[in-house]
Amino acid sequence: MNFTFQTKFLSKIQIPTRNCSYFLFSNHRRRYSAVTFSLSTKSDEETLVVVGGGAAGIYGAINAKTIAPDLNVVVIEKGKPLSKVKISGGGRCNVTNGHCVDSMVLAGYYPRGSKELRGSFFNTHGPMDTMSWFSDRGVELKTEVDGRVFPISNSSSTIIDCLMSEAKKRKVLLQTGKTVTSVSTTAGGKFCVKIEKRSVDSVEFVEASYIMIASGSSEQGYKLATQLGHSIVKPVPSLFTFKIDDFQLVEMSGVTFPKVGPMLVTHWGFSGPVILRLSAWGARDLSDSDYKGSLLVDFVPDLHIEDLKSVLNQHKNKFPKQKVINSFPSELGLVKRFWRYILDRENLAEDLLWASISYNLLISIASNLKNCSFRVKGKGQFKDEFVTAGGVPLSEVLSLSLSLSLSLSVIVLLLILGSLQISLKTMQSRIRPNLFFAGEILNVDGVTGGFNFQNAWSGGYIAGTTIGNLAIAANLKEEAV
Ligand SMILES: Cc1cc2nc3c(=O)[nH]c(=O)nc-3n(C[C@H](O)[C@H](O)[C@H](O)COP(=O)(O)OP(=O)(O)OC[C@H]3O[C@@H](n4cnc5c(N)ncnc54)[C@H](O)[C@@H]3O)c2cc1C
Repeated sequence: MNFTFQTKFLSKIQIPTRNCSYFLFSNHRRRYSAVTFSLSTKSDEETLVVVGGGAAGIYGAINAKTIAPDLNVVVIEKGKPLSKVKISGGGRCNVTNGHCVDSMVLAGYYPRGSKELRGSFFNTHGPMDTMSWFSDRGVELKTEVDGRVFPISNSSSTIIDCLMSEAKKRKVLLQTGKTVTSVSTTAGGKFCVKIEKRSVDSVEFVEASYIMIASGSSEQGYKLATQLGHSIVKPVPSLFTFKIDDFQLVEMSGVTFPKVGPMLVTHWGFSGPVILRLSAWGARDLSDSDYKGSLLVDFVPDLHIEDLKSVLNQHKNKFPKQKVINSFPSELGLVKRFWRYILDRENLAEDLLWASISYNLLISIASNLKNCSFRVKGKGQFKDEFVTAGGVPLSEVLSLSLSLSLSLSVIVLLLILGSLQISLKTMQSRIRPNLFFAGEILNVDGVTGGFNFQNAWSGGYIAGTTIGNLAIAANLKEEAV
């Protein structure tokens, strides 16, 4: 398949960084307060604030708390937690993909991230680890023929219940209906997090040692990242269907093309995993061309053009008395309605017999089948799964920090020696220490099939365990002094 594109660019999001005054001012309309969470915060206790209670944030929070039970972990969620998990996979939640064990192969399913994710990212926590994590907690999973993994219950609530009960068990503090509206750094090298609750018009401030931004594709999350010095790769939609400018085509809604792959005609154009995959790989160019271009489809990819011509010719010789609109070679794998559509594009007379078909017309039919052009006039509103390409560039996420595989005693020893020099992926910002990112906020997105949640689980796990280990190391250092 092929597209033609135009190019135009959007400007970058830029928000000035402001410092936070920790003890607050008042105004007659808004109620302000300093740290009001029911965290048992002693001033020397460390706190992780997770921005966003989606898949990445909740998973990250649980894993941080699993490693470091004494770390205060609070998740701030502006709406309902795990709301995308709820609606995902048509309400069934396609948790991950069970057919991709090799991380090199797995990375190939990410149009943004295909190079960067080849290494330790999935080796540290890949689909098998995700599946074990859920099954160890009593969630029975099944892998469908195409590799998509679902809970056996066929209900996303099973995944939500598991995550929420684990978060509760680990004493992760979840604050819903609150929005993180800004984050700045304090003189002591910590973060000052401003949290607003619009419904009661109140503002709270929390001092945090660690921040994990897991805000998905929300504009506010991008603003927080820019406040902390990060750039944002322009966010554009991915995983969408195509609106095709061809009324005769859309009249054939429901027609599928087994040879092309999972693709079907809808009442607005083309849909199905093949199209979604194409939209993901072309997401940026399609956005630049305002979702207008030409879609070229090869409807008989298993036959070379010359073989196709001889198949048509053999049919002509075998069935000279049959009408072309009624009879066609089974090797084409097409339904009659679509064969007639192709003939309509050739303006072929309805009563034409195979015996009378000219060689030129036969060649033209073959070319149309091999290289059928459709005018894309826009993006469809496919709602089963979509995702955002763009966000914080992976190049701004640190790959050098402490090793998660080190035993505690070795970490202590290294801290004492002051020579912590081991490199592993951490999800930590290269720009701001102790700032972490996970999930869709990053410039990572996968094709449909469970790959987007896998990015959230892997990123959340790595960020959470890194933070947990840092918190333990900091604690031990304090105790050693
Ligand atoms: C309809 C649909 C179906 C999908 N189905 C699948 C599927 O079956 N399989 C799959 O792999 N992927 C699926 N996806 C994609 C998948 O849902 C996302 O990739 C995944 O949810 C990303 O997780 P996340 O935690 O990074 O972000 P999100 O799940 O978007 O979570 C981010 C959270 O942060 C909160 N937030 C944002 N800003 C702030 C702020 N400033 N303060 C406080 N809270 C904030 C948001 O309210 C949100 O709850 C689907 C997506 C859609 C839209």
